[in-house]
Amino acid sequence: MDMEIKPLINSYDLHKRIIEIAKDIDRDFKEDIYILGILNGAFMFVSDLVKHIKNKVYIDFVKASSYENKEFSEFKLICDIKLDIKDKAVILVDDILDTGKTLQKIIDVVLSKNPKTLKICTLLDKPSRRIVDIKADYIGFCIEDRFVVGYGLDYNGFGRNLDFIAMID
Ligand code: IMP
Ligand code: MG
Repeated sequence: MDMEIKPLINSYDLHKRIIEIAKDIDRDFKEDIYILGILNGAFMFVSDLVKHIKNKVYIDFVKASSYENKEFSEFKLICDIKLDIKDKAVILVDDILDTGKTLQKIIDVVLSKNPKTLKICTLLDKPSRRIVDIKADYIGFCIEDRFVVGYGLDYNGFGRNLDFIAMID
């Protein structure tokens, strides 16, 4: 596979920002925090973010598949939450907020379990692509409408291991 990679956010800036987000989260919560990462894309972000949160943290992951074409759109939860989040302070952590369609469905699933509060944290935000009206509470970086890989994000499985965010051509 021959692909050109153009760095967009370097490793230093990425990690510096993640520490800032962890501080914001610590400032905003007094109670235990239930972090729900969305697989696969958020695995690296979650693992670095939680290292810097000083509050007591419980961690779990959800995984969904969504498939869409002109005739129908299908959403399936492949892997549900195992933690009991009823009356807990939950933060859903995603890699990138794009149209918001997948995240909205996951939000509905999480809310059906009656958490005390639900906040949204995304490493990247592409506001220009939004279809569903969602605003994240914690945002790493706002980016333009470009397809990016790295730091968990992939193109057909490629690029997840990069310690920076890159655009691909
Ligand atoms: P949406 O918000 O429902 O449109 O979907 C967001 C999901 O699509 C993200 O969690 C990513 O898994 C994937 N995605 C969206 N934009 C990109 C991108 O630029 N690179 C890699 N994955 C992306
Ligand atoms: Mg994702």
